[in-house]
Amino acid sequence: MTDQFQPGRPIVLRGGTVLPMDATKSVLRDTDVLVVGDTIEAIGPNLSVPEGTQEIDARGGIVMPGMIDTHRHMWQTAMRGYGADWTLTQYFVFYYLQHGKSFRPEDIYAGNLLSAIEALDAGVTTTVDWSHNNHTTQHADAAVDALEAIPGRFVFAYGNIQGGAWEWATTPDFRDFVERRMHRGDMLGFQMAFDVTGDPAFPEKAAFEVARDLGATVTTHAGVWGATNDDGIRLMYDNGFMTPGTVYVHAATLSDDSYQRIAATGGSVSVSTESEQSCGQGYPPTWVLRKHNVPVSLSMDTSVWWSGDLFSAMRATLGADRSREHLEAHKNGDTVTHSHLRADQVVEYATRGGAAALGRDNLGQLAAGKKADVVLIKNDSSPVMFPLLNPYGHVAFQAQRGDVHTVLVDGKVVKHDGKLVGIDLAAARTAIESTVEYLQETLGTEAWEAGMNPDIPETKVLDNPYTYTDYRSASTHEA
Ligand SMILES: [Zn+2]
Repeated sequence: MTDQFQPGRPIVLRGGTVLPMDATKSVLRDTDVLVVGDTIEAIGPNLSVPEGTQEIDARGGIVMPGMIDTHRHMWQTAMRGYGADWTLTQYFVFYYLQHGKSFRPEDIYAGNLLSAIEALDAGVTTTVDWSHNNHTTQHADAAVDALEAIPGRFVFAYGNIQGGAWEWATTPDFRDFVERRMHRGDMLGFQMAFDVTGDPAFPEKAAFEVARDLGATVTTHAGVWGATNDDGIRLMYDNGFMTPGTVYVHAATLSDDSYQRIAATGGSVSVSTESEQSCGQGYPPTWVLRKHNVPVSLSMDTSVWWSGDLFSAMRATLGADRSREHLEAHKNGDTVTHSHLRADQVVEYATRGGAAALGRDNLGQLAAGKKADVVLIKNDSSPVMFPLLNPYGHVAFQAQRGDVHTVLVDGKVVKHDGKLVGIDLAAARTAIESTVEYLQETLGTEAWEAGMNPDIPETKVLDNPYTYTDYRSASTHEA
């Protein structure tokens, strides 16, 4: 922690363009945000502030709530970028069938640590750790150790791809872990993370009962092409487990009937547009979720492909939604003249939408009394920070993670002037290096290389009756 920011002293961000994410999506120009303790004390022009308040110059910048990622497999950040060319099938084979079990608790720790730091750096102040490689509770302990080492807000969503939910959720070890580590403090929430296969015997029922017993919400990959479908939704509904607060991840290949059940039972969908585009869970679903008024939050899914950066998520989501709208219209010979999905809505998905999905109405907005999770987007040396005409459009299409100037979580400065504050990136680097070395050694060079470079299917280039040579000779001939 630099001397500049001493714990306990109030902080004021002066003169920024503030997006409070209120119901009317206001834009407040030349406005101050005063933070006292862990709370937003006041928002307004030229605020008078208590003696000793530390000032951050927000002029020329955008002040918005900390962003919220409702689904990220943080452990996989240990293999950042490795699966850039994977399909979902290759991902399943690698982690579920072949190599997921190679991860030791310290590897889960390393991935989580780096992912947690990366989130704060990008202005993501709350992240759901969809932690689904806890083949022992020591792995889960390591995951939570990492989350507790970083001053962000997290929700630990316990899961385990190496076994059925009805198996791990009903063990004394799991109960013991929850009692020891999941105290549901303000900085660390708890969910249970598992998928519903659609098996008519509904073995997942036992895990839902544990969740109900523990008062935990469930987050589940639903509507994933070839993996989970309407059958899972129907089983959950018929057995009374589509409860408010349930988060349906992707929900990209479901029928209208399933979307209606989600909307009617108080659930929400975590849309990971970049993931759905590359992996094939189905078309990024905001275009259909809008029709059913299903609440939306955003997520990045995994850094084995993408970075944990909600600017990318907002941009990709706007693009995918508009692409689909155009395509649907073109099918009918029509032209879209007005876009439905607006920039302010994707900013809302990334902030207030995430807070609503997690049942946290004191997050995702800037208003007196809300938690002080605040992001300042400002970069005086960037040609992209002006003119600042349409601030929501600026956040969605112009800004990027490198423009995140200052981040507060729970009133504490964790990034300032573009640099992390009080965070040991070197320790994360050391942990990651040793995990990568261990994984390479365990898998062997050949499997490691093959995993990263999947075969490319043959592409047949279609016959082309026109050739450059013909074109040239024809024109020469004419001359
Ligand atoms: Zn996922």
